[in-house]
Amino acid sequence: MRKNPKIRLPERIARLEDVAYNLWWSWNVSARGLFKALDRTLWQTTHHNPVAVLVQCHPDKIEARAKDPAFLQWYDSVVAQFDEYMGEAKPWFKVKHPEARRPVAYFSAEFGVHTSLPIYSGGLGVLAGDHCKTASDLGVPLVGVGFMYPQGYVQQRVGVEGWQQNLYAHIDWSTSPVRPAFTPDGQPCVLRLSLGGWPLHVAVWRVDVGRVPLFLMDTNVEGNDPGDREISGRLYGGDSMMRLRQELVLGIGGTRVLRALGIDAEVFHANEGHAAFLLLERLRERVEAGMSLTDAKAEVARSTVFTTHTPVAAGHDVFPEDVIEQYFKNYWPSLGMDKEAFLDLARTPGKKGWNMSALALRLAGRANGVSRRNGVVAREMWKDLWPDRKAEDVPISHVTNGVHLPTWLSQRMNELYSTHLAADWRQRQDDPALWAKVEDVPDETLWTVHLRCKRDLLNFVREQARSRWQAERAEASQALAGGALLDPDALTIGFARRFARYKRATLILQDLERLKKLMLDPWKPVQLVFAGKAHPADDGGKQLIQQIYKLAKDPAIGGRIAFIEDYDMHKARYLVQGVDLWLNNPLFPLEACGTSGQKAAANGVPNLSILDGWWEEGYNRENGWAPKGSEGLPDDKRDAADAAAIYQVLEEQIVPLFFERNQKGVPTGWVSVMKNSIKTTAPQYCASRMVKDYTEKLYYPAAEPALTAR
Ligand SMILES: *Cc1c(COP(=O)(O)O)cnc(C)c1O
Repeated sequence: MRKNPKIRLPERIARLEDVAYNLWWSWNVSARGLFKALDRTLWQTTHHNPVAVLVQCHPDKIEARAKDPAFLQWYDSVVAQFDEYMGEAKPWFKVKHPEARRPVAYFSAEFGVHTSLPIYSGGLGVLAGDHCKTASDLGVPLVGVGFMYPQGYVQQRVGVEGWQQNLYAHIDWSTSPVRPAFTPDGQPCVLRLSLGGWPLHVAVWRVDVGRVPLFLMDTNVEGNDPGDREISGRLYGGDSMMRLRQELVLGIGGTRVLRALGIDAEVFHANEGHAAFLLLERLRERVEAGMSLTDAKAEVARSTVFTTHTPVAAGHDVFPEDVIEQYFKNYWPSLGMDKEAFLDLARTPGKKGWNMSALALRLAGRANGVSRRNGVVAREMWKDLWPDRKAEDVPISHVTNGVHLPTWLSQRMNELYSTHLAADWRQRQDDPALWAKVEDVPDETLWTVHLRCKRDLLNFVREQARSRWQAERAEASQALAGGALLDPDALTIGFARRFARYKRATLILQDLERLKKLMLDPWKPVQLVFAGKAHPADDGGKQLIQQIYKLAKDPAIGGRIAFIEDYDMHKARYLVQGVDLWLNNPLFPLEACGTSGQKAAANGVPNLSILDGWWEEGYNRENGWAPKGSEGLPDDKRDAADAAAIYQVLEEQIVPLFFERNQKGVPTGWVSVMKNSIKTTAPQYCASRMVKDYTEKLYYPAAEPALTAR
């Protein structure tokens, strides 16, 4: 393993570097605490990045820590935990599958593992990160394949007028948990691709997520055209042609990277259509080795899983056929196909155009949506690909998403569960019987822990407003809009996610007078905390942010609306842990699953959500609130109807329940909803349940299901 020349550690604590370079630390409370103990201020200023802490920490301080018996004892314990985790002999997967299995290669355009690695934009990426962490915990042999975007995803600043500004920072390699990947013979892995006369070099980086390595491709390589060097520059940057080139690199390049690294995957999992070219590449490998196209298709289908995530049309890439032809004219002969047969692979019936999801659905043997509802919607959406079948017989199943609890639970809740459920609750987190014990936690204890998480959130928000005001000379009104006036006693509602249209961030502002009555009630005040980025090219999304921001600055709202800038995983943790209620109001049925509500619920933060995505199966009348989304109305009428349903449940049920306190000030009725929320969602919507489902039903099904004829 290459050492970082900027990190100099005394021999006694030298293994801090190993731990810093494995993102395992990000979900181990004790390891996080150790880096924080090394230098508390650096821990804050580096936004919790251990590699940066080790690089920047003053040598005297490091020397002092290496002689401090308490620190050393802690260090020894963390290193022992790390080694035990990495070397665990019998994780869940080994028990279930004692026979040797070759790995799953999980392809994704984004991976949200930690804020210090900004290569995700939202739910899709965070899901991929949670999937990898959980595969690691369970011992499922999995490797990730994706992109190392040197400029990451957009960073958001909101100007005084409320308009989102798009900033990009260049990743600093020396302070990131990223190292070059090496081939089995010890050479840095650099690939040469050539597609339709388009030559390209691709370098490969490695990020370790516990036992799961991610291999991330980067085109910013010596020898590439300046334009091509930008291909991996930014996540979802550039136009449709850039997007196509990224996807060529992801699917075809990614498959070749695995070959170069000597990784012989048994299963390929395309997380969303972006990676669908991997199917073509694996067909080509077989046909060129002499297999018939029919056999090659059968073999590739048998070993490929495709997950589709969105019913929104813009979420499915469609490229013009003439452009595809340009890149693939030398490729289809190697599949033994002619042009029309090749283009037919990715057409939807009656339409021209190369549809990446259609390609994946035709060639992958197993396909799934990400919630029960999303399964239904996807079968309906894609039924034309199977003209002889009824929608319910379309071969797309579902595995409902889940979240990696060790990542998303606050440290405080973590400790509470260790004390009141079981010390080893993490090993049994998908067991409902374990979580039923939440009922035995005294109400006051749970409420007190929640109030501390709320205080952590408000402190964090204030610090952020302070630093914006002080360091960046923001105006005072911006500090207020950023949440400086938030009230620890008000019922605090969180809404944070990407500002995509169907998520309707401003729905709750529909009837401002009605909302104001709720917010400004002196006895039972309510406040709203918003966060989220608009896609850098989406002016509509930016207008929604502006609408919220203007209200946040308006004295008539009294500081009861806040907009937290630059939503990322770090801020998401504070929000899902610290608000009182999590709001979600997508346009039914466009929310494929939604995962932030699952994060909140497991922290004891109940959901107020339109019945869509996971909530349609998760809601049980006692673990939150579910105003029914309207159907069959024109969009503007639907918004008004849905908003009215939300106000009504707030006015009649939620607010009164939250403010009804016993003599000790504990809202016992509310705490009962919190408990219900925890015990019903944690075991069902933890990523452990999800990855076990993928493993048993889709990756290594005991009896391989018959392939679907297309
Ligand atoms: C969990 C998460 C999301 C997902 O949000 P949903 O809209 O609820 O699916 C988006 N962004 C970040 C930073 C997250 O952590």
